[in-house]
Amino acid sequence: MSAVSVRDISVAFETVRVFNGLSLDFEAGEFIVLLGPSGCGKSTLLNAIAGLMDISEGQIWIGGQNVTWEEPKDRGIAMVFQSYALYPRMSVRENMSFGLKMAKTPKPEIEKRVKQAAELLQITHLLDRRPDQLSGGQRQRVAIGRALVRDAAVFLFDEPLSNLDAQLRNELRVEIKRLHARLGKTTMIYVTHDQIEAMTLADRIVVMKDQLIQQVGSPSEIYHRPANMFVAGFVGSPQ
Ligand code: ADP
Ligand code: MG
Repeated sequence: MSAVSVRDISVAFETVRVFNGLSLDFEAGEFIVLLGPSGCGKSTLLNAIAGLMDISEGQIWIGGQNVTWEEPKDRGIAMVFQSYALYPRMSVRENMSFGLKMAKTPKPEIEKRVKQAAELLQITHLLDRRPDQLSGGQRQRVAIGRALVRDAAVFLFDEPLSNLDAQLRNELRVEIKRLHARLGKTTMIYVTHDQIEAMTLADRIVVMKDQLIQQVGSPSEIYHRPANMFVAGFVGSPQ
């Protein structure tokens, strides 16, 4: 059973249709990177999996359940966005607790999970600050922490490091990889247009162009045996 199964999906916007029956399976515990240039459909695919965008055809399965018609909150996923999307008037602790409170999680359990996630991401000393008192890197750590407390089986990341400078990007990239190792069976689906990020993070890379999958393979396969000229030009080794 796949952790996430995308079956024959299409997404209809007002004037355009994206993915003409796209299918893709993600295995439990995998770190998968969706890689491709801007506009290739990475966010649309991620949002369809998350349930933030309706699909017009096909099905989404998560953890062996058909969740095509389930609300995002009932899909067993946690998502991290490029723009952090923190609540500006809440402290870091409140930001991290909010979703669990809404889900009526008992208070001691919330406190335990926030404490653990904060320690893992080294943001314990920031718990009482507000987002405007944090740097960009710290905000993104909090955004990851807020996803982490949900204890989800599947994590979705949409270009989480794109707003950060190069050094912070490298730092957080290592951190995210470490997190995946620590969490064990968690499936991570990570969207980026950055080849280096894809190469260093992924167990498997899905290369996309024009809303079509060009190749699926390990970083080494993609690099050494690109399936076509596009993949070769985008990530492959210079011939
Ligand atoms: P990526 O995340 O890879 O940059 P997107 O998934 O955002 O790409 O976009 C994929 C395609 O879908 C693009 O051609 C884009 O123009 C189109 N698209 C995305 N969102 C909308 C929308 N709300 N309305 C119309 N077209 C959209
Ligand atoms: Mg995008």
